Amino acid sequence: MPYQLVQDIYIYQSSIWQTNSSVILNEAANVVIDPCYFPVEIQVIADFVNRKKSFNKYIIFTHSDFDHIVGYQYFKGAKLIGQEEVSFCDRESQLMQLREIDQTYYINRKIPFVFPNLDKSFTGDYRIPLKEDEIVLVHAPGHTGDSSFVISSGKRVMFAGDYMSDLEFPFIYFNSGAYLKSLNMAGKLVKDFDIEYVVPGHGDIAKGKKEIFDRIDSDKEYLLALTDKAQELLNQGLQEREITAVLTDIKYRNEPIEGAMIKMHIENVKLVLKELHIF
Ligand SMILES: [Zn+2]
Repeated sequence: MPYQLVQDIYIYQSSIWQTNSSVILNEAANVVIDPCYFPVEIQVIADFVNRKKSFNKYIIFTHSDFDHIVGYQYFKGAKLIGQEEVSFCDRESQLMQLREIDQTYYINRKIPFVFPNLDKSFTGDYRIPLKEDEIVLVHAPGHTGDSSFVISSGKRVMFAGDYMSDLEFPFIYFNSGAYLKSLNMAGKLVKDFDIEYVVPGHGDIAKGKKEIFDRIDSDKEYLLALTDKAQELLNQGLQEREITAVLTDIKYRNEPIEGAMIKMHIENVKLVLKELHIF
């Protein structure tokens, strides 16, 4: 059974990467956000959604990373919605990552995955009116160029894609400045829509303003530590190797970054140095 967050909104969490799939069952429509990950898990979500006949069916992608788009084919007749850049992402790189994980763990996808073609794409923002609710999608680049926040304004819930997770520091695949801007925008949206719950792509739901803003703040702190420190060390005339060594030791939520996460952190460091156009 899914976890019911509020009336009409249900959350499924995959056993891999604690990836969240969200379902909004409204009188006017069925909305599924980022259906994933293992075939059996996706089938369970599809069965749940299909029990309720609805004329309007939507799948919303918060972004084009393979783990968030892999399940859409199980939802027949659903309109696929995503930010315009989703159509222009590096499909081959996403397919390669999916294939590698499927092969490693012997995952058998009876419905072979093909990349989704959006039925509706948007730039800026986009609104889907529902009975007694409105879904608001807002472009939020930074993690990827095609990331979006999805808001149920009636239920005061925000689906954040790969932002504001309690499990991971920001993974910057696109741009650190854009990432920071999107976090600031998230804060503004939380206030404007009086958001009470944030459902991240991975991990636990943030409940209440304090936890939501704690997550925004710790992610901002990490990004600023990276970018400001890089600039400072550069101004001191340090070499790339030396700057990388110092930045590797940056903390997240006052804890050193260790283990499997180090790899992702080093990728961030490399990207930030590249953005400074120095090496
Ligand atoms: Zn993800």
